[in-house]
Amino acid sequence: SIIVGSAAGSVSEVLGDLQRAAGAAERTMELLEEPCQIYSPANPCQLPVVTGNIVFQQICFAYPSRPEIQVINDFSLTVRLGETLALVGLSGAGKSTLFDLLLRFYDIQSGSIKLEGIDIRDLDLSDLRRSFALVSQNPALFHGSIEQNLRYAHPNATNAEIEAATKAAFIHDFILSLPQGYQTNLGDTGLGLSGGQKQRLAIARAILVDAPILLLDEATSALDSQSESWVQQAITRLSADRTTLVIAHRLSTVVTADRIALIHHGHLEALGTHAELMKSSDLYARLAMSRFQTSG
Ligand code: ADP
Ligand code: MG
Repeated sequence: SIIVGSAAGSVSEVLGDLQRAAGAAERTMELLEEPCQIYSPANPCQLPVVTGNIVFQQICFAYPSRPEIQVINDFSLTVRLGETLALVGLSGAGKSTLFDLLLRFYDIQSGSIKLEGIDIRDLDLSDLRRSFALVSQNPALFHGSIEQNLRYAHPNATNAEIEAATKAAFIHDFILSLPQGYQTNLGDTGLGLSGGQKQRLAIARAILVDAPILLLDEATSALDSQSESWVQQAITRLSADRTTLVIAHRLSTVVTADRIALIHHGHLEALGTHAELMKSSDLYARLAMSRFQTSG
């Protein structure tokens, strides 16, 4: 997803840039119609200690660029403290959008999302976003060394803390096997790292962040079985003592989750354990048969 909000420039800056580009009139009009700037409230509520108390209450959402498509449709869900909740559903069901809304990259059109009982629109944006560690499908690694990529999450981390995190994420030995170790430059795109290695680096970064809630968007691409097992074990450790929402594409993740939320057309279609949903939902049984590989 595109990150908007605090990172976006002011309207006049954006307009200035667009006017310098030739023939940008149409795009200018589109941008003016996008009411998607996200601001912190002037008088934010104090956020209590975050335990992972999240409540989605009858939320509805359409992306500003496609207002005619109701992506999230009367979605309600109460997350239990400390649980690992797997989100599953067909590609396009709205799973990743729920993460975007929780982090307030976009605002909902109706309903409410509450963290620790407070509407997230009443919280300071940085307080809100600090409550979450996000491991996305395609973790963003930037030009710089492995160490810099890890420190970005936690600039004051000691070497011992970094090593503990990379060990817990099963990536320490791999890093040491590189000729330049932690100083290896990743290039612009995490050059030369496999999907599983990138994910484990992102998990190490999430361990360093040590946020109370973990949001994990599992990669859809298959990993080799060794990498898969390491990623799985690292996730198990990371989620053990924190509330975790995981968009799951692996049967192994789904069956070990405390509960599973089946999302269909932006609505909560079913909620329960794997065994319960296998019995109660045809759609769930079909997804399980495909080992959740058809989801996005
Ligand atoms: P999932 O993660 O379940 O595969 P998404 O939440 O990514 O689904 O997408 C839900 C729907 O929203 C899809 O129809 C998708 O095309 C649409 N969508 C996702 N991101 C955007 C965006 N930035 N702008 C407009 N539509 C979007
Ligand atoms: Mg997705």
